[in-house]
Amino acid sequence: MLKIKTILTTLAAIILLLPINQLSVRANLTSSENSTPTKQITNTEQPKNIYQQAKAELPEDFYALYRIMERIARANKLDEKPWRIIIVPKYNINAFATNVNLIATYDGILDQLAGDASAIACIVGHEMAHHTERHIALTPVEKAALIKKIEQEAKQKALIKRQNAQAQATVMSIGGSVARIFGGRTGRVGGVVLGNASRQRSKAAQEKIDEIVAQKKEELEQTLAEDSRQREFEADEVGYLYSAKAGFEAEGCLRAMKVLGQTPSAEFDTTHPAVPKRIEALKDLMVKFPATSLAEEGKALISETKPLTYDLSKDGVSLRVNSSRGGSSVDDVERLFDRYSNSQGD
Ligand SMILES: [Zn+2]
Repeated sequence: MLKIKTILTTLAAIILLLPINQLSVRANLTSSENSTPTKQITNTEQPKNIYQQAKAELPEDFYALYRIMERIARANKLDEKPWRIIIVPKYNINAFATNVNLIATYDGILDQLAGDASAIACIVGHEMAHHTERHIALTPVEKAALIKKIEQEAKQKALIKRQNAQAQATVMSIGGSVARIFGGRTGRVGGVVLGNASRQRSKAAQEKIDEIVAQKKEELEQTLAEDSRQREFEADEVGYLYSAKAGFEAEGCLRAMKVLGQTPSAEFDTTHPAVPKRIEALKDLMVKFPATSLAEEGKALISETKPLTYDLSKDGVSLRVNSSRGGSSVDDVERLFDRYSNSQGD
């Protein structure tokens, strides 16, 4: 089972609905007393039974999230892999995606969106999109590559400057030797003056390198923030398509954004675009891809699939929406074994 502490150590890779500064979660979260271990449910059961059982077994928030994720997965062909969602018991208006197909949502955002499944679906869809668009997998790699490039450039510049300084020092040294050989007062004085000038040049060269590195780092931060904002727009777009195909109300995305818009710095571009810009982009999208036709597409896909099963973690902190393969490797081994033994006539 996933431990929340383990999850929280991987937060370097997170992408949030909102900027990162709200992430001060600590792990007093594993209260297992109230957890409800679940029985494995197989895909052979009727949809009604699975949903009824889920409603009876799962805490309300998890039941709603299960129904939302299950529907989004089936309506968008995202049911080949399982999805896991964790509810972080902290009153933040935020959610994030991390690791592989893991989504986390804070208590706070569920609380503020209570009664609005379409808004929650939009947020879940946004986080699922960060996974499917590979935003999480690529971001740290891109960042590392950029940092490496900057370091290499700075080193190269430092090397050239050092070589120039050394060449200059050699000239000075020759100058000094010449002065000693000739024993002239003028020669010695000339050597000292020129030597000081060389050290000053070397110092200036180092300062210039530091300046270049600082400037490059600043540029890098700006580039990363810009890339991050671009990814957020993408996740908003794909998240809208996902939730609309699953049949949720398009306006749910706008209602979710309104709640995000009440958070600090929402009106500014940070690692995330300003919320008003996100709302405008979503409105454009809704005109371009009307929710009604998306829902029709999704309906067709849903009708071709079976309901997905679920498993609640033993500590009750997270829920897995199983892939179309189901959630039990034991069932699968037994299915394979039985088939195998039958073929041998055992
Ligand atoms: Zn995001």
